[in-house]
Amino acid sequence: LISHTCGSMAGLRALQMVALRPAPEPRGVPDPQPGPGEVVVKVGAAGACHSDLHVLYELDVSAVWQLPMTLGHETAGWVHALGSGVTGLAEGDPVAVYGAWGCSVCVRCAVGAENYCERPSPVSGGGLGADGGMADYLLVPHQRHLVPLPDGLDPSTAAPLTDAGLTPYHAIRRSWAKLTPDATIVVIGVGGLGHIGVQIARATTAAQVIAVDLKDDALDLARAVGAHHTVRSDSDASQSIRDLTGGRGADVVIDFVGATPTMELARSAARVMGDVTIVGIGGGQIPLSFFSQPYEVIIATTYWGSRPELGELLALAATRQIRTERSLYSLDDGVAAYRDLRDGQVTGRAVVVP
Ligand code: NAD
Ligand code: ZN
Repeated sequence: LISHTCGSMAGLRALQMVALRPAPEPRGVPDPQPGPGEVVVKVGAAGACHSDLHVLYELDVSAVWQLPMTLGHETAGWVHALGSGVTGLAEGDPVAVYGAWGCSVCVRCAVGAENYCERPSPVSGGGLGADGGMADYLLVPHQRHLVPLPDGLDPSTAAPLTDAGLTPYHAIRRSWAKLTPDATIVVIGVGGLGHIGVQIARATTAAQVIAVDLKDDALDLARAVGAHHTVRSDSDASQSIRDLTGGRGADVVIDFVGATPTMELARSAARVMGDVTIVGIGGGQIPLSFFSQPYEVIIATTYWGSRPELGELLALAATRQIRTERSLYSLDDGVAAYRDLRDGQVTGRAVVVP
């Protein structure tokens, strides 16, 4: 297909968002050349995130992002070409791409939390305004976005960790103090993020883990990766969580769906003084009142994680305490990855390997 549409571009491939609403398209793209300070990464793997579906089909990004744009904000690979002035990296080094690209100067960026850049640009990362990782090569605008892979982690294992891993890692880490050995954490939505979230909860805390989903496959996966209990997401789910916690409710609830029913479940299943963290961008809304949740429940949204947290998570994954359930797709078949994700046919993470 690409050689037909774009024979003059050296045959380099990319899966691009070309317009709002239609499916992404495989297209030919030019060979990226690193300018001063930039690095080109040969893509080893790029994960297909549900956020890309929100971007493709729900949010209107056309006013702020130039299309066509190569998708993919969850990438790992090997250093391929170094722009002038880049030091400390060599061609062939395996790297994970820290995907939140901030201003680098504000106080949040300075501590590596570029996900919370205080001078954010609408172009906030590869696949999020700039061309992303669903391609043979990814142009990374600064070497600080590259985290060398520890021994024992290859790019196709590491790629999903950069978002489907890092986002739950940050969400769980911020609630570590509440995840004492007698505590319970509820993970709602056991897809790409949630199935890694279950494992992060198991590997970094001694809390009881309850996983909630609509799909049998997801509940089976949750048990296979370490959930102590699974609960189907229906009108009885909140009571089931109360029953499993001796009536107290969950110390921490992480909602990886963010639809109105899951947000209702999250606040109603929380324990007094618990944390409810909304990670999913499902467009849900719940009313807030004095009595709408147990006393001193803290409700927060989180976005992605910091670069130091990515380093911690990669170190954890290198010890084999986390595995990513992956469905692999070739780059030429990347359209199918998003189609299957949209149809709810993916268990774990759909990962494109060029
Ligand atoms: P996914 O499609 O891989 O998984 C979603 C899971 O939720 C599926 O298993 C699905 O069966 C389940 N689900 C759907 N409706 C449900 C319901 N009512 N009750 C229980 N389970 C339900 O998606 P993903 O890639 O893991 O992303 C999850 C969400 O997180 C998306 O909205 C995505 O945009 C968002 N996200 C947020 C951030 C962030 O930083 N805040 C980062 C990445 C992704
Ligand atoms: Zn994402």
